[in-house]
Amino acid sequence: MEQTLSIIKPDAVAKNVVGQILARFENAGLRIAATKKIQLSRTDAEAFYAVHAERPFFGELVEFMISGPVVVTVLEGENAMAKNRELMGATSPKEAAAGTIRADFAESIDANAVHGSDSLENAAVEINFFFAQREIV
Ligand code: ATP
Ligand code: MG
Repeated sequence: MEQTLSIIKPDAVAKNVVGQILARFENAGLRIAATKKIQLSRTDAEAFYAVHAERPFFGELVEFMISGPVVVTVLEGENAMAKNRELMGATSPKEAAAGTIRADFAESIDANAVHGSDSLENAAVEINFFFAQREIV
């Protein structure tokens, strides 16, 4: 069974829509194998988004990700990685298809409600970044 990592970002946590977003995953047939609410440190956010270190928006991205708590979740199911990306919608809410999480809850390309792993290889790395094996059940 495939696993992928989801992060409900600080904007969506502040809007109090954590339950609504988790329900979308469950309603789409994904199972919550692990979940927790945490405050990322600057070091955490820089390490997590290290692949974007050279991008012009890296500083803003890190500031945003540490601006409040996030909810990190391991989603499990058939085609979990691709299914989660489909539920999320495009990076910018302006381009996200109607009915997607970003279309419904995101404000901007920075404050875009959710993160989802973009490959199975990255999913394994990202899950391992946040969770011990015994926490994933
Ligand atoms: P995520 O990795 O968060 O799931 P994504 O895979 O859709 O989103 P990426 O290209 O990996 O998009 O970018 C990572 C994050 O960096 C985006 O979610 C967004 O918050 C931010 N970002 C991407 N492009 C821009 C941009 N042009 N300006 C500002 N922020 C951006
Ligand atoms: Mg990405």
